[in-house]
Amino acid sequence: MTKEYYEILGVDENASQDEIKKAYRKKAKKYHPDSNKDTADEEKFKKINKAYDVLSDEDKRKKYDRFGKQGVEGSSSRGQRRASANFQDIFEQIFGGAGGRGGRRQSKRGGNLKVQTEITLEEAYHGVEKSFKVQRKSECPDCDGSGAENGETNTCSNCNGRGKVEEVRRTPLGRARQVTECPECNGTGNIPEEKCSTCNGNGITEKEETITVNIPEGVEDGQRLRVKGKGHTARNGDSGDLYVFVSVKPHESLERRDSDLYTTVKIGVGDAALGTEVQVPHPDGQISINVPEGTQPGQVMRASGKGMPSGLGSGDLYAKIDVEIPEELTEEQEEVMKQLRETEVNEKNFFESVKDFIS
Ligand SMILES: [Zn+2]
Ligand SMILES: [Zn+2]
Repeated sequence: MTKEYYEILGVDENASQDEIKKAYRKKAKKYHPDSNKDTADEEKFKKINKAYDVLSDEDKRKKYDRFGKQGVEGSSSRGQRRASANFQDIFEQIFGGAGGRGGRRQSKRGGNLKVQTEITLEEAYHGVEKSFKVQRKSECPDCDGSGAENGETNTCSNCNGRGKVEEVRRTPLGRARQVTECPECNGTGNIPEEKCSTCNGNGITEKEETITVNIPEGVEDGQRLRVKGKGHTARNGDSGDLYVFVSVKPHESLERRDSDLYTTVKIGVGDAALGTEVQVPHPDGQISINVPEGTQPGQVMRASGKGMPSGLGSGDLYAKIDVEIPEELTEEQEEVMKQLRETEVNEKNFFESVKDFIS
């Protein structure tokens, strides 16, 4: 039975302190009551804390390994202080210093919203503005979030208008005084004289909203954009964020790899031999590329800086040259080709005669 704490953190019995800390951080983040609506679980969170409290302290861990839970119950106050410091340290890393020491309450935050959009490569190249319809919780417009009809309120008798109440809680680290939001007035300090009929006194309503988002140039397929404060609003708290999941449709003639673009262009035998300028597809219309004389089939031309924009400057565009051999020739072309062949044959004969001469 001594394995329980290890199982709670999901680590091996021989786990190093680093592994324990990592596992704890991951789990605490997942189950923290304020961290994420889908996975928040206060009971689990407490268990994780307890397990970490013991396993992160080599002394306690040794006792636990030998005697199980009994071995670590009622530990010294010195140990508690040390563990508290540990928690604080990790909480500051996870929640950006919002960890609740000294009764400081973490401010409430509304849930996040998620939307998806599919854009074209052209839109990804230039950046694009997209609007999303979302069901969003926000401050009730009829009572400005107060929850009171006509704005009339009375001071909350439970907290005397402070919006906070102090309670003494038993925690894995002993008894702790904790300041929490007053449950009677939801932290507002006021009780509505009459509940707002629009929001039923909640101060928050949910309605359809259109949110316009600027999708930046160079955005990649599968990228997630965060729009701060455009998620749900919590009463007396902050708004969550809106997450936009972007997918970029495949382009008919351009392929993207990181910030570079790839395409294939077909040119004629004459153009390949004599050199030419060709138009190649580009998200901004077309660009022209210089094909030098003597270009071979499969040769790749690079147009520097003509790829997708990115934070590190633009990528390049690579155009593979496909040389088309005509399937049918006009009389005139046939004549030219015959002449060409003759010169080729002559050249070959010339080299062969040289070879004969040398050997
Ligand atoms: Zn109150
Ligand atoms: Zn209202």
